Amino acid sequence: MSNQANLQSSSLQNSSTRRRVLIVGGVAGGASCAARLRRLDESVEIVMFDRGPYVSFANCGLPYYVGNVISDERKLLVASREMFRDRFNISVHTETEVTGVDRNTRAIAVRDVHTGNTRSERYDALVLSPGAAPIRPQLPGVELPGVFAVRSIPDSRRIRSWIADRNAKTAVVVGGGFIGLEMVENLIHRELSVAILEKLPQVMPPLDPELAVPLKEHLAAKGVQLHLGDGLAAIEEQDGGGLIVVAESGARLPADLVILAIGVRPETALAKDAGLQIGPRGGIVVDAQMRTSDPSIWAVGDVVEVQDVLTGQETVLPLAGPANRQGRVAAESIAGRTTHFRGVQATAVVGVLGLTVASTGASEKGLRRAGFTSFQRVYLHPGHHAGYYPGAQAIHLKLLFGVPDGRILGAQAVGLEGVEKRIDVIATAIQFNGTVHDLAEVELCYAPQFGAAKDPVNLAGMLAENVLNGDMPVADWLELNRAGALLVDVREPDEFAGGHIPNAINLPLSQLRSRYLELPKDRDLWLCCAVGQRAYYATRFLAQHGYRSWNLSGGYTTYKALKAAALTA
Ligand code: FAD
Repeated sequence: MSNQANLQSSSLQNSSTRRRVLIVGGVAGGASCAARLRRLDESVEIVMFDRGPYVSFANCGLPYYVGNVISDERKLLVASREMFRDRFNISVHTETEVTGVDRNTRAIAVRDVHTGNTRSERYDALVLSPGAAPIRPQLPGVELPGVFAVRSIPDSRRIRSWIADRNAKTAVVVGGGFIGLEMVENLIHRELSVAILEKLPQVMPPLDPELAVPLKEHLAAKGVQLHLGDGLAAIEEQDGGGLIVVAESGARLPADLVILAIGVRPETALAKDAGLQIGPRGGIVVDAQMRTSDPSIWAVGDVVEVQDVLTGQETVLPLAGPANRQGRVAAESIAGRTTHFRGVQATAVVGVLGLTVASTGASEKGLRRAGFTSFQRVYLHPGHHAGYYPGAQAIHLKLLFGVPDGRILGAQAVGLEGVEKRIDVIATAIQFNGTVHDLAEVELCYAPQFGAAKDPVNLAGMLAENVLNGDMPVADWLELNRAGALLVDVREPDEFAGGHIPNAINLPLSQLRSRYLELPKDRDLWLCCAVGQRAYYATRFLAQHGYRSWNLSGGYTTYKALKAAALTA
């Protein structure tokens, strides 16, 4: 008898006495949990169920499979049923739906999705990792052929076939969040003409609106039609084929296919039926060891509510990193260890037609929603590497930090190069409860083609330090029209002539030392330049000459974004 056969035979013999761990959902959270548990405990029986045809597939790769960037479907399969069996002695039942949980008898009901046959499976420990389902609003036409959501390999396969079979030329993506944007990129890669319909007035809703402006401009420059601030009302069939997406405004957008990407909802049906506690955000309530309100049941991934470490509030965060880490924590808990899940900080990145958008921690709107008031922000637009080395690209960066402690609360960045690297550094600092002083001091890689002696991360920390220690008081962009403040633009006259904040006067930094006496001492001076640097020099000079000087952080570049986002006059 082979070793494998021996193993299976002994598993069968012992299966009635061994501790049984059943896992519902075999992708990010479930598969991580199963594999980790096996590494910790050879004695337990581990059985994983998934109603789909695959386990452990790369959901995050699906948009790129649609776009043919990944052309071989098999590349999406991270691990197979056979690999789980042979390498880890984990049984996998695909196309097997778990339809109920009986907590009294500690058994689940499962159904073969092909035959409809049902059976019961007992557990000692149960892990729920069923994920989150794409939201399909109850609107006319959303079930029409040609309307898709993207969650599974079969979904992506259907979209690919639809594009190929109908020679699709136009698409409407409903929802401008990260899955929607990835679909936009990939549909354009397939040479479709794409429109986005987004209910909010901005794309990428987790960002603060002004940071979404460069993204919006980039999409428009790449030919994406943007219908922002307009929701979906219905989808109709066109005479002669094709679809019409009808917006709430009445706009009618023709499309050969429609992608619904308006968000996901935790799949809590099993948990609710079993009477497990569900939280206010609609996810399963778990403790730091990912244990639900029933001590024999754990839950992980998109289905759970977890603590946002920045705001201290409960949140649902459908991202692969947290799901994987939570699966591992649940496995450790089942194996008797006391590992804790630290909570989430919403670190995310999306690439859109060459532009990178990344964020970590809280946004300003998130902080306000959570009731935070003692915080400040700085904007900066440094090059991704030294300016003297060819090809430097601006990174638009916003850093939020606590006052007076300087604790880093969040950061968002947009640019063509080097964006996610800076956000990852800041994300790591947040993990270690870092402050802006840490960012100012952190020692990062530097050679001309990679960074700068003062990396954008250092600069962000230094600017924030200047705000905290009073070296650079920052004026509030949202109060630009505050009576009494004099707006002084310190750029050169030709730059000023090319566009400036209404009512600003021009006194270039290059002339400030000879002309500063022209400025009034009895008024607040709000200083502006292109990106904030020259205004900072002017702020320091004037402060040391007895003026009340303030910097408009991020300068005219930030002003234009705030204005485009309708946040300032
Ligand atoms: P899932 O990975 O969704 O797995 C749940 C599984 O459970 C599914 O296979 C489902 O069929 C099965 N299931 C559900 N109910 C039952 C039941 N009753 N019985 C049996 N099986 C059941 N995150 C990132 O961090 N970065 C990205 O770039 C990124 N891109 C994404 C792109 C797309 C298109 C999608 C859809 C998601 C993306 N995500 C990304 C999110 C990430 O994939 C999820 O956060 C992660 O997969 C969640 O893991 P999970 O285990 O909770 O759920």
